[in-house]
Amino acid sequence: MTDPAMQGPVAFIGLGMMGGPMAARLATAGFDVHGADPVETARSALIAAGGKASTSAAEAAEGAQIVITMLPDGKVVRDVLLGEGRAASGLAAGALVIDMSSSAPMQTRELASDLGERGISLIDAPVSGGVRRVLDGSLTIMVGGESRDIERARPLLAAMGKAIIPTGPVGSGHAVKALNNYVSAAGLAAACEAALVAEKFGIDPGVLVDVLNVSTGKNNSTEVKMKPFILSGTYASGFSMTLMAKDLRTAAELAHELGVGEPGTQSVADLWRRASEQLGRAADHTEIYRFLATSDNETQQEE
Ligand code: NAD
Repeated sequence: MTDPAMQGPVAFIGLGMMGGPMAARLATAGFDVHGADPVETARSALIAAGGKASTSAAEAAEGAQIVITMLPDGKVVRDVLLGEGRAASGLAAGALVIDMSSSAPMQTRELASDLGERGISLIDAPVSGGVRRVLDGSLTIMVGGESRDIERARPLLAAMGKAIIPTGPVGSGHAVKALNNYVSAAGLAAACEAALVAEKFGIDPGVLVDVLNVSTGKNNSTEVKMKPFILSGTYASGFSMTLMAKDLRTAAELAHELGVGEPGTQSVADLWRRASEQLGRAADHTEIYRFLATSDNETQQEE
């Protein structure tokens, strides 16, 4: 593996549920990581792992050759780099931005072009796997951008993920991520609805999940979400309802912009939008089960 010191200082903006442990992995692997997040506990976790941390993204990015962003969405990424945060103003020409957030692909293309005018390159490298797979370094990372920029980022990406898959030009990683989450959310909604129907029929939903997991109905949610987070009632997956709703909106907008008939993307996006409006910002995305259980009751009462 490349010597981490060869990369120079790396700024890491956004130290939340995902960015916090990702930045800590880089610091533990020997990279010179300077993080930024307004939340004090997020900063102290990175310092404990051997990194530096600031409240200001511009301060963290000052003199960095590579800036990683792991922020709620592409609007925040743009704002941090070129808007109020102005983190890009401290970057020299030749710097590389790696946006690992789940941003909207059309916005990413625009941001790459605007940064390009300053001599700064951007690749999009969103991730799949959640907090559990950050901790064991097995994230899947889908990467859009120029090959030379991807190769430059590879030592950092390899310290955080296992499968690093180039997807095409800039923005394509973000498109693939939104589409992945659409397929994942559709599978989760189907598994939750099936469990609710099973229960009403008098079948233990845990038995249904056991059968699905050795049958053709198996999917990621039946395997890693239904029992640990949903049937247990903990709803502690670490991925919020709000962020999932945002990704599904991105997938539905992409389908619409590209003129693809979108009954699936639109209806799944609508389901999560209604659930996040009803359950609020603090809800975990697996609470879609609670939402479906309630709407099921409401429908019955109306009849
Ligand atoms: P989070 O809300 O836990 O973290 C976001 C962090 O960004 C917060 O700590 C917040 O304080 C910080 N932040 C916001 N504005 C900032 C600014 N201007 N400067 C510096 N920091 C700022 O979210 P998360 O779950 O870590 O998700 C981050 C991204 O990763 C999102 O795009 C999400 O869709 C994606 N994602 C999340 C998961 C998951 O399982 N949680 C999985 C894959 C992808």
